[in-house]
Amino acid sequence: MADRSSAEPILEVTGLVKHYPLATGILFKKQVGTVRAVDGVDFALARGETLGIVGESGCGKSTVARMLVNLERPTAGTIRYKGEDITRLSGRALKAVRRNIQMVFQDPYTSLNPRMTVGDIIGEPYDIHPEVAPKGDRRRRVQDLLDVVGLNPEYINRYPHQFSGGQRQRIGIARGLALRPEVIVADEPVSALDVSVQAQVINLMERLQDEFALSYLFIAHDLSIVRHISDRVGVMYLGRIVEIGRDAEIYDHPTHPYTQALLSAVPVPDPGARARRERIILAGDVPSPTNIPSGCRFRTRCWKAQARCAEEIPALAVPPHLGHLPGPAAHPSACLFAEEKQVVPPETPTR
Ligand code: ADP
Repeated sequence: MADRSSAEPILEVTGLVKHYPLATGILFKKQVGTVRAVDGVDFALARGETLGIVGESGCGKSTVARMLVNLERPTAGTIRYKGEDITRLSGRALKAVRRNIQMVFQDPYTSLNPRMTVGDIIGEPYDIHPEVAPKGDRRRRVQDLLDVVGLNPEYINRYPHQFSGGQRQRIGIARGLALRPEVIVADEPVSALDVSVQAQVINLMERLQDEFALSYLFIAHDLSIVRHISDRVGVMYLGRIVEIGRDAEIYDHPTHPYTQALLSAVPVPDPGARARRERIILAGDVPSPTNIPSGCRFRTRCWKAQARCAEEIPALAVPPHLGHLPGPAAHPSACLFAEEKQVVPPETPTR
């Protein structure tokens, strides 16, 4: 995909934190710890760009998404939309910004109200923002949106159960587009769909991105899903981004051991490349976000860990020992011992 990462950021997240109190007791709740769901996340989303955020279940992806669309308040940090910190806005100013950052949810089976018609579901955002679509114009607008996402506008009076999973996600996308947002936060938008349908929905999202000049934050638990849609990818582990870079940097020149381990598990279509791929099996389980290891949070599962890793928190920056060589390995990676390792060999040309 084209490199759009040098453009002015439309969204900029700095030091984003979300901690939840961990309480016990039924009558007299007592705080016994803290869930550090998101624990210091920084990234910028350029205008027209797709940034993929990838990590295993529980690493904090949805919590980041919910903070971006104001469903959760950050414990700390800033979220700047076109330079303005939206975590401090309220009232009318907040409403205006929220219109421009919309979410597409993961599960089209549970996120659509079964008792509402498709027309009401897609048009519901206009109840909160009537200035976008006057009452008399709503039906036409909803029909246009159905058409835009590849559904028959005559389906406007049908109910969600009358559609397939892929079609339901198209309805979710149409609803996300209703207010003509500039940014779409898509939280695992294809994870609940059959593999054969995933590509269709991703293709649709790519087409809509061009048509409506959208910027996407695309969340997934698997590096293979975001590969074709992302310009850049950030890899999350236990509440933090551990490596971030352009597509080719992350997939072909990963430097963080966690990214290397994730890549070693992605499906590889070419049998030759599959046979030559190195499999990295990580030790143990992901630690609990209530009990994050000192220093580098990945060290308890890392085959490269040394004593220093328990004491120093590695910054998400271009590692100094890699930065002197401009090239694909010189991208931000939060590892003291970052080094390039090509886990998935290049595909052999098929004859
Ligand atoms: P992901 O989207 O990557 O699967 P989440 O953002 O949903 O991860 O969750 C990150 C961590 O925060 C998990 O350990 C989860 O259990 C915890 N968490 C999420 N929401 C809450 C909440 N409202 N209260 C307490 N813990 C929460």
